[in-house]
Amino acid sequence: MEKKPKNFGYSVTRDRQIDFDANNHDICKIVTKAEPTLNLCISCGSCAATCTAGQFTDFSLRQVILLLRRGETKDLDKEVSKCMLCGKCQLVCPRNVSTRNLVIQISKALCDNRMSAS
Ligand code: SF4
Ligand code: SF4
Repeated sequence: MEKKPKNFGYSVTRDRQIDFDANNHDICKIVTKAEPTLNLCISCGSCAATCTAGQFTDFSLRQVILLLRRGETKDLDKEVSKCMLCGKCQLVCPRNVSTRNLVIQISKALCDNRMSAS
């Protein structure tokens, strides 16, 4: 009979190690070419703090940019679709990142990538 593991009152959390080399960096390259101000982002989070969509959902443009840069683009289209393109983030960005166009270019690159894969 298999022994039941002892309950210590906690469990092992899922591994969050990022295999950077195994990720897809093509989308980030395409987006950077279309919207070079992506390179100016310092991940300060001002966009996420003032985001209209962030008031109603768990959307964060800062997180989207981080995932894009890491090449973790698997569920990114679902995330990006939460943006309402209101442009508020662009007004507060200290680095003048063209955030609205950035969101549009990310959506476009993800859509093109999906089309070419199917
Ligand atoms: S406010 Fe600008 S610099 Fe700060 S995380 Fe957002 S896009 Fe990047
Ligand atoms: S444009 Fe999108 S990311 Fe920027 S504040 Fe509006 S909903 Fe948020």
